[in-house]
Amino acid sequence: MKKYIRLKIMLPLILILLSITSLIVFNIYSGKKVSTKNYSSFSEDIKHNRVDKIYLTNSPKMTIKLKDGSTYKTDNPRSSDFKEKMLSMNIQVSENSNSLSLVNTLSFIIISSAFITFILSMKSPSFASNKLKGVDAMELSASTEKKYTFNNVAGNEEAKESVQDIVDFLKNPDKYARYGARMPRGIILYGEPGTGKTLLAKAVAGEASVPFYAMSGSDFVQVYVGVGASRIRNLFKKAKSHGKAVIFIDEIDAIGKKRASSQSNGNDERDQTLNALLTEMSGFNDNSGIVVIAATNRLDVLDSALLRPGRFDRHIEITLPDTSARENILKLHFKNKPIKNIDFKDWSKKTSYFSGAKLESLANEAAIIACKNGDPFITDIHMDTAFSNVIAGYEKKDRSSITDIDKKITAYHESGHALVSMLMLPNESVSKVTIIPSTKGAGGYTLSVPEDRLYQNKSYLEKRIMVLLAGRASEEITFGEDHITTGAYSDLNQATDLALKMISEYGMGNSMGLLSASAVMNFIKPPSDNIINECKDYINDLYAKTKNLLNSNKHILENMSLQLLARETLYTDNLDEILSDTNYKM
Ligand code: ADP
Ligand code: ZN
Repeated sequence: MKKYIRLKIMLPLILILLSITSLIVFNIYSGKKVSTKNYSSFSEDIKHNRVDKIYLTNSPKMTIKLKDGSTYKTDNPRSSDFKEKMLSMNIQVSENSNSLSLVNTLSFIIISSAFITFILSMKSPSFASNKLKGVDAMELSASTEKKYTFNNVAGNEEAKESVQDIVDFLKNPDKYARYGARMPRGIILYGEPGTGKTLLAKAVAGEASVPFYAMSGSDFVQVYVGVGASRIRNLFKKAKSHGKAVIFIDEIDAIGKKRASSQSNGNDERDQTLNALLTEMSGFNDNSGIVVIAATNRLDVLDSALLRPGRFDRHIEITLPDTSARENILKLHFKNKPIKNIDFKDWSKKTSYFSGAKLESLANEAAIIACKNGDPFITDIHMDTAFSNVIAGYEKKDRSSITDIDKKITAYHESGHALVSMLMLPNESVSKVTIIPSTKGAGGYTLSVPEDRLYQNKSYLEKRIMVLLAGRASEEITFGEDHITTGAYSDLNQATDLALKMISEYGMGNSMGLLSASAVMNFIKPPSDNIINECKDYINDLYAKTKNLLNSNKHILENMSLQLLARETLYTDNLDEILSDTNYKM
């Protein structure tokens, strides 16, 4: 590509040089041949009717061609009636010089060179982007590789759902404009590496049939101040030239990390780049059809300026795939490969905590092994070898090394939360229980939709504490008192906080009665021992109640945990089914 650009600049230059050289050579050469005669000799030639043609220009000399074919130069009389006189004597007069003047020639050459350059550029597929290259010659053309759609993204159903309206907006911006709807300008996809963030961004562009421009945050971070900012501007200029586009910025944290306020002289280059990005994003109007999708492994490290409304205001988590998603991803990557008797369900179970990228590399590795062996089909035998290779290729600290016992503990812990929530707070639907780690929880997490209420009564808060305690309670019931884990750390923190507030601030306990501990603190030290003791008894009570509840419904807890272990994620429907299958006791 770069060679081609250089050629395009060099070619006209070479042309100009060649032309000038040949013109000079020609002039020297022709100068030798054409002799000069004085005006009286010319008058003689006229008198004897030997002149055939006169080449007349504005120059001090004119060229005379005789009937015998010879030519010479003589002084140009430059009188107004000269031409008329000659014509009347039947001598041809040409006012076009027989040789182009140097100036004319040069301008001709320059204009034609410019023309040639233009034609060459038009033919080049990246004509427009070349205009941007100038300073740092970065590759900026829209990706022209194969078109991606949502069919290329397996699993990630929630994320696909979340970007569906962006696709619709890109397809029919007018529809949204008519309703005065403002579409998100920026979306952040966050999650572990290899979970398909880039893939999803490509699919959005593909589904909407708009160009896809991708750059990485690290491309913008340069040694020279201002280069990153100018790259940002070029990127947007290029995308806007299409009207609609998806701009993808991978590793957004490279430019959008939180600024350390203590450092007065921060990183100028990064700040300028970030500012350029924010300016560009606020620059395009609401329905311009440009959507910026950024990706990061961590949302919490990003500068809050980036996350404000009108900027990257939609945040979508891309999690590691669960069992059924892994099965689909494997099927997708084996679609065009010759396979025999591969049990995808089985492989999806063996590949816990594998990312999409890792599953893809498993499929690829198996294909390579089968190919090397010259086997006609890829089978479980190749898969086994590939699996060991892939596992060995990834670091030890990788999630896939999470032991089966850890998985089991997580499953029982989360099932405890989910079951107690469903029994005690039936109005709060549990939308998802998972043992796939994410930013919401290192081991797994249970998501419920809280009831929208202005006031929370004592009984509700007690139930909330029970739900928080249920993870630990389930661990204890299942594995015994000696095998409880640190997994309940955050639950206990929240439960303690809630109980303390109930007793010392909400007037729901005995030690403080209706007094507020924080108000008391303005005058005297509140009776913290009493509060702590009451809080401890209170939580212990609720813990005992939680364990009782789980014990009386142990069959459900067992069933739910086993299903969670197998499928790794359970949704409302699955949970309702589990609960409705069995009789539960309150
Ligand atoms: P990220 O941007 O999150 O690091 P990528 O989108 O680059 O991940 O994923 C790398 C590759 O892994 C993809 O090109 C694809 O082959 C595979 N992959 C990842 N997630 C999925 C998925 N959900 N479905 C199908 N393939 C996936
Ligand atoms: Zn928990």
